[in-house]
Amino acid sequence: MTFPPGKLILHRNTRHDRIGWVRPGRVISDDERGLLLWVASGSVVAHEVAQDGLTLRDMPFADWIRQSYRLAQLRWDGPGVLKLIRPDVAHSVWWFRDEAGRFSGWYVNLEEPAVRWQEGDLAGVDIVDQDLDIWVEPDLSWAWKDEGEFTERLAFPDHYWVSDAAAVRAEGERVVREIEAGVFPFDGTWCDFTPDPAWVTPTELPPGWDRPPARLLRA
Ligand code: MG
Repeated sequence: MTFPPGKLILHRNTRHDRIGWVRPGRVISDDERGLLLWVASGSVVAHEVAQDGLTLRDMPFADWIRQSYRLAQLRWDGPGVLKLIRPDVAHSVWWFRDEAGRFSGWYVNLEEPAVRWQEGDLAGVDIVDQDLDIWVEPDLSWAWKDEGEFTERLAFPDHYWVSDAAAVRAEGERVVREIEAGVFPFDGTWCDFTPDPAWVTPTELPPGWDRPPARLLRA
C-alpha cells in the first residue's frame, strides 16, 4: 500500500484498543526511504484526555490508568513538523523547526512499526508510541528524552502499551549509531524542506478519523 503525494492521511498513535493522538499529515513522498509526511501548523489534531481535560502527561501513570477518557480536538499550534515513517523499523524521525521555519533538530520517536490502512478515501498509518525518544541537535549531539515516563510506566505492565523495554532501548541504540555516523536521515536531507504554500491546512478531521486501531482490525 503506497500513498500518493499530496494526499492528506491520518497519523495516529494507538494504545491497546484506544487512540492516543491523531494528526493529519500531507504525503510528500512515499518510497524506499519511507513515508514522508508534513503536519502543518494550525492543523486540527486530537488527543486523548481524562474527563476533566487533563492529559497523560499531567498526572502520574498510577492516576491516569484509573481515569475514563475522551478524545479532545485542538490545533497544532507549534511550527509545522516533517515526519519520516521509515519502512519496517521501530522508529520514525521528525524534523523540528523554529517559528521562522528554520530547522532546529531531529526527534527520533521510538514506536512499533507503522501499520498502514485505507478505507475508501480515508487512509492513515497507525503506530504505538513507545515513549522513550531521542533528541538530536543540528550538530548531531544527542540525548535520550522521556526516560522518566518510560521507567514509571513500565512498572504497570497490565496497563502499559510497551512490553519489551530492552527492545525499545536497543532500537534507540541502533539509531544512535546512524546519528553518530551522520548518515541518512541525519545527513542534512530535508533540513531545508519548504511546504507548498498552496496546501490547505486541515481544520476538520474527516469522518472515520477515530476508527479502531488498525492492529485490532487486522488481528
Ligand atoms: Mg515518543
